[in-house]
Amino acid sequence: MAEFDLIRRFFSGLTTARADVRLGIGDDCALLAPGSQQLLMTLDTLVAGRHFLPDADPQALGHKALAVNLSDLAAMGADPAWAMLSLTMPKADELWLQGFSRGFGKLAEHFGVQLIGGDTCQGPLSISIQLTGHAPDSAVLRRSGAQPGDRIYVTGELGAAALALQQIQHGDHPGALRQALEQPWPRVEEGRALRRIASSCIDLSDGLSSDLGHICNASACGAVVELARLPLVQAVREYVMMNHDWHPVVSGGDDYELCFTVPPEQEARLLRLPLSCTCIGEIVPDGGLYFVDTDGSRYAVKPGYEHFS
Ligand code: ADP
Ligand code: MG
Repeated sequence: MAEFDLIRRFFSGLTTARADVRLGIGDDCALLAPGSQQLLMTLDTLVAGRHFLPDADPQALGHKALAVNLSDLAAMGADPAWAMLSLTMPKADELWLQGFSRGFGKLAEHFGVQLIGGDTCQGPLSISIQLTGHAPDSAVLRRSGAQPGDRIYVTGELGAAALALQQIQHGDHPGALRQALEQPWPRVEEGRALRRIASSCIDLSDGLSSDLGHICNASACGAVVELARLPLVQAVREYVMMNHDWHPVVSGGDDYELCFTVPPEQEARLLRLPLSCTCIGEIVPDGGLYFVDTDGSRYAVKPGYEHFS
């Protein structure tokens, strides 16, 4: 199966056509008529051996590659719309392509995303997705904007993906935690609901300490987080309690939950939203991010993930 066959079989018509796409896959460029909205663009690359194991389930990979991009749009309160896919693969493996396109296609369909183009090359397995979304003026959430006194929230639970990865690396079976690592669900609806309520927002890809640190830097403030408040699923709670190890929760990555701040006067509106979130701490004036243990002691944080560090 050669390049154009492959594109036709697995990617043309994979997602439903949007009214604002004049030309999708098939010409030299895609052609869009997005109207007058603000556009938000993001791109993420997943490299075999770095972001996923080379034998990872292709359907889960197709899901995750799109999910991590959707999560970036969610963090800014955007509506996802158009995706481009750059796929580099050692060979055109039909079974792999079937699984990958199914995982990608199902998630794209759920959020109304159309695959409008991309590129296909032969080489070591690597997946890049460029995703564009839109949002009305003044509704975009940013990392800057947090103020002292704002309360810090996260959606969902933390640490499950990082703990699953740690267990796999130690040759153990992560059980139900595997889902969090392989098929994170991007918080797109949540991000949209937080427009004009959250004062700042970020998605948790590199770990809570790193990512909340970005909000602190961008907003020129500090943060105090209480470990006892961090939302954990049972298996993660048991691990933390048995090992006295907060690392997967505080510095592990791949949560793809939203971390956001809310001014006190907006909290009543937040709590009326149909949204599962937990208050974990508060923004403070001075720079620096502190995690406080139940006995009041400060927890020393190991840094989250950074390439080239
Ligand atoms: P060109 O050589 O002009 O760059 P290509 O031959 O790379 O075009 O691609 C042909 C068409 O198929 C283009 O519309 C391109 O966007 C699309 N395409 C190529 N690879 C992919 C892919 N992996 N997923 C979706 N669309 C793709
Ligand atoms: Mg090309």
